Amino acid sequence: MASVASSHAPGGLSADIPVKLLAWYDRHARRLPWRVPPGEGFQDPYRVWLSEIMLQQTTVVTVGPYYADFLERWPSVHDLARAPLDAVLTAWAGLGYYARARNLHRCARVVSGELAGVFPDNEADLLKLPGIGAYTAAAIAAIAFGRRAVVVDGNVERVAARLFAVEAPLPTAKAELKRLAGQLTSDRRAGDFAQAMMDLGATVCLPRQPKCLLCPLEADCRGQAAGIAAELPRKLPKAAKPTRRAVAFWLTGPNGALLLRRRPEKGLLGGMMEVPSTGWRETPWPEREAAEAAPFETDWQVLPGLVRHTFTHFHFEVTVWAGRSKKRHLPEATGRWVALDGLDGEALPTVMRKIIDHGLKQTAILIEAEKMAGDG
Ligand code: SF4
Repeated sequence: MASVASSHAPGGLSADIPVKLLAWYDRHARRLPWRVPPGEGFQDPYRVWLSEIMLQQTTVVTVGPYYADFLERWPSVHDLARAPLDAVLTAWAGLGYYARARNLHRCARVVSGELAGVFPDNEADLLKLPGIGAYTAAAIAAIAFGRRAVVVDGNVERVAARLFAVEAPLPTAKAELKRLAGQLTSDRRAGDFAQAMMDLGATVCLPRQPKCLLCPLEADCRGQAAGIAAELPRKLPKAAKPTRRAVAFWLTGPNGALLLRRRPEKGLLGGMMEVPSTGWRETPWPEREAAEAAPFETDWQVLPGLVRHTFTHFHFEVTVWAGRSKKRHLPEATGRWVALDGLDGEALPTVMRKIIDHGLKQTAILIEAEKMAGDG
């Protein structure tokens, strides 16, 4: 009887996985603004880098308009390097994880000033640049330069965990999943392969309900064969997030302008603008203690309601106090008056936009109530 030879990749999966995956990618690749279509060569490294930094912790849908806006303002790495940091932070506002924006700017300056605008073409040298970690270095090397690189994001971890039926939980299993993803990684069409893995995870091998019937790798998938695919990757239970609290000071000055100040360069939301506040801590702020942290002594009114926001490691609850000041000139450390119609031009992170929306809404209600009381 004739025997059929089967070829296996290390780890025992079929060696033709890259072929199947690339054939699938040729037909089903997502059309994304920062991509060149499958098989059509390499994307400009500046664009790959910009999109990959933006996509860290952020969805494709959210990134789209920011990516287009950045390219329009700063079409090359030299343009971005010449931009003032504040302009970059302002354009970034709303994307979150603001350290990325500061590193993006630093990296642009290094590439423009020290490397004549040329991004390194390999992972080791890319890793030396500010803000470029293992994932981003691998993605740029593969997508912009066609180098074989093991590009592992959350989507790829999920696909690898299911294909190899890895039951160890994340984050413990991270290194093992990277090793297994490495066994699959193709050196043929390296950029397309990396993006094909990402797309499979993003459109077919979905977190809760993988669409195995549409998957080009179904016949190879051990997780699917064992009936446990949807449960993988397992995750260690997350520690409960603490809640930090603060009082924010909604202070209006001459002509109704609002007091804003810049946060310190280092730390959370570093270098961004903010509505001044007390420190952020878990213990609630008694009124007297909060008043001592206010930028001015004035007749404060506590606005009704709370502003809530969730950061990666904690929930945040903010009470807003409203007050007025007649001072025109302020010491730099106190902040500066910003006209309400000029707020869009400020580098305000999402949590500060929420505080501002709350302040605007509640003070308008307050003014209306005062007017009605006056009329009565
Ligand atoms: Fe994911 Fe299902 Fe494909 Fe396995 S068969 S890789 S679980 S979509």
